[in-house]
Amino acid sequence: MIRTGERYLDDLRDGRTIFINGEKITNHVDHPAFRNAIRSVANLYDYKVKHADSMTFKTETGEQISLHWELPSTPEKLVARGHAAYEWAKQTVGWLGRSPDYTPSALTGMLTHIELFESYSQERADALRNYFAYASEKDLYLTYALISPQGDRSKTPGEHTKNIYHTLGVVEKNAKGIVVRGTKMLATGAALADEVFVGTHYPLKQGIDERYALSFAVPLNTDGIKIISRQSYELGANPKDYPLSSRFDENDSMLYFDDVLVPWERVFVFEDIEMCLRQLDSTATEVIMDTQGLARYAVKLHFLAGLAQNMAEINGVCQIPAVKESLAQLACYAMNMEALFKSVIHCPKIYNGFYIPDKTLLYTYRVMSQSIYPNVLGIIRKLAGGGILMLPSSEADLENDEILGIIEKTQYSSVASPIERVRLMRLVWDAVGSEFASRHHQYELFYAGAPYQTLGRFYKQYDWESSRALVEKVKIP
Ligand SMILES: Cc1cc2nc3c(=O)[nH]c(=O)nc-3n(C[C@H](O)[C@H](O)[C@H](O)COP(=O)(O)OP(=O)(O)OC[C@H]3O[C@@H](n4cnc5c(N)ncnc54)[C@H](O)[C@@H]3O)c2cc1C
Repeated sequence: MIRTGERYLDDLRDGRTIFINGEKITNHVDHPAFRNAIRSVANLYDYKVKHADSMTFKTETGEQISLHWELPSTPEKLVARGHAAYEWAKQTVGWLGRSPDYTPSALTGMLTHIELFESYSQERADALRNYFAYASEKDLYLTYALISPQGDRSKTPGEHTKNIYHTLGVVEKNAKGIVVRGTKMLATGAALADEVFVGTHYPLKQGIDERYALSFAVPLNTDGIKIISRQSYELGANPKDYPLSSRFDENDSMLYFDDVLVPWERVFVFEDIEMCLRQLDSTATEVIMDTQGLARYAVKLHFLAGLAQNMAEINGVCQIPAVKESLAQLACYAMNMEALFKSVIHCPKIYNGFYIPDKTLLYTYRVMSQSIYPNVLGIIRKLAGGGILMLPSSEADLENDEILGIIEKTQYSSVASPIERVRLMRLVWDAVGSEFASRHHQYELFYAGAPYQTLGRFYKQYDWESSRALVEKVKIP
């Protein structure tokens, strides 16, 4: 049985603790702050059922599960998982960053390098292998939380001596597992996912920070996990006014662990700083996960190029050469990312019998996606002019005959009706100007790490020797 949208919704009614707008809510699945985004995820599961040939595979035990759980043991498998990610991204036109294929891709990249875990600890490697089998068999939706909360960034977590559990750390270990307390900065999709993978990415100091050097996975309804949701952009958003906010607000939540027991069979790294970083840096975790990210980003840029062209057409400026140049620039960004995506899935490196996407290409994506996105928004805003504000205040205005009469006389376009024009302009606003759009701007800038980090890591990864060899060819001694 492939996991359907309905089964996902049933499983999600798990009694987890979520706080929003001063309340601890029950039944978040039907709550107006989360319900539409949750339905968008359910639609993804249903899409997969309908397109099982290209979106799923059969395991050795006969289970039919999502392709993003498959290890890329042939070049074709890497290409197939890339295409599946692209197809899923198209269903949300690139606006759901943490769709259910994101974090499993990270775990897949750990499994391709399981020998690293084995050389660290046979028990922890078994825990990871068994967890992967369990989560994939159930086709779980996982989110992840790696980053420590901001506080004093000049100190490591252990140097916050007045509050050593500001960042999530171990309180005690016992025969059953470890008890953890403290915070992880953000888990996008914590209201939407079944479980969370917790890791650590921030530099930690030997001898001070071992208690924070952990990785584990737990269900989001585990006793003691408190999900502190940010403002919901779908809450109160009429889909006709906010077509994106109302459907794809995947939410970001701070996670507070109030003395949570994590069983040993779900602990993958325990109090080991080097291993904690190596599970991300020295495996295929980042690159397989980023392949999904790159597919989604390319789809989003194609959507934004199409949206801008539609707006220019409605405004009758499409044939102006300078406008064509701006639109071409948007299309070029989209094609650039698509080309990167294609080379990533078609030019892998072989490691341990697995076909692994190239790290330098994916680090390029991280850097470029951060620098392109503000330009894309800038171009669309420039093309939009005041048209994205010369709009009725909400759908309610269209239901008032007096206002509707004025709208019909004023929202003129040669190629669209007044209502079509209003709807399109509202979509543009939701993509570039609404609070949802602003959050997306921040997402593209930070989700893969702050720009100083992505650039710093790219600097280390790039093949400087080969580029310097070119310089040597023409240097005059
Ligand atoms: C919308 C959104 C969703 C997210 N979702 C998730 C998620 O699901 N899971 C998850 O684990 N994380 C998530 N994150 C967190 C994300 O990974 C972090 O924002 C990112 O790693 C940067 O860390 P930070 O925000 O603590 O910024 P900081 O590290 O505090 O940096 C902020 C700024 O301070 C300056 N700065 C700080 N240190 C330095 C330095 N050493 N050198 C130079 N400049 C410096 C830079 O200007 C930098 O941009 C999300 C973030 C956003 C915005």
